[in-house]
Amino acid sequence: MSENVEHIEVTTQIGCPVQCLRFCPQEVTAAKYFSDSGNAPYAKLSLENFRIMLATVPKSVQIVFSGFCEPFANPECIDLIEYAYNEGYTLRLYTTLYGATTSDVQRLIKIPFTTFNLHLCDGENTKIPLTDTYKDNVFTVLNTVPNLTFVQMNQLFKSNNRENITRNGITKKTKRGYCWKRDVPAMVLLPNGDLQLCCMDFALNYKIGNLLTESYADVRARYLKNKNKFELCNADCKIKISKLEHVFHTLITSYMNKRS
Ligand code: SF4
Ligand code: SF4
Repeated sequence: MSENVEHIEVTTQIGCPVQCLRFCPQEVTAAKYFSDSGNAPYAKLSLENFRIMLATVPKSVQIVFSGFCEPFANPECIDLIEYAYNEGYTLRLYTTLYGATTSDVQRLIKIPFTTFNLHLCDGENTKIPLTDTYKDNVFTVLNTVPNLTFVQMNQLFKSNNRENITRNGITKKTKRGYCWKRDVPAMVLLPNGDLQLCCMDFALNYKIGNLLTESYADVRARYLKNKNKFELCNADCKIKISKLEHVFHTLITSYMNKRS
């Protein structure tokens, strides 16, 4: 299934303990979020608030557990996942399994994710204590998840340049090019209900709306109305491609679809 579909990326906690700081500007996100003292009670996403936030989100919008933190850093993560699944959403998961208990993983492997991406330790950038529980959990997932994919943040990892843009601001402007996220919203949900522009907004500079106080339809409409005005899209964001590349991909995809 294509990942270029409308979705919400769920950040279950602000401040990720895995600290892959070479590629992931965690410190900027936490400093910005907690600079507003009103956010102190919202360090973690609660099930109670998640229910309110999802209430107006159509089932056609995928729920992706990833966002700006390892999902299982929040001990309620498995409850959040089961809730979204039981509500009928299509789910994706990107996790290191840091913080997951044995019981969490036994519940987790019963959920059919369209993408289950396991971020493995790399001995350098990703700080995961190699406990027996962690190793057993990784082995359980390896043995049971049929569509498992992997990532490692080692020397071969290619980031989307978010660490530099987040830490240094937009130092180099590039052509806006084509980004599917400008046509198909893929906002990031924070524990306080804020919806941020996209997965590049680790600095939390582009709040589009809030799901504790507004409906998803209202926030979505505001996003689409302003989609060509976001300054962040002028940055050297590696997710966008040139318009020529986009036309080429579209033609190739359409040709291959006709042949199959
Ligand atoms: S686990 Fe993910 S969110 Fe956490 S620091 Fe590493 S890359 Fe960032
Ligand atoms: S910042 Fe990058 S990924 Fe986000 S909407 Fe703009 S071009 Fe797309």
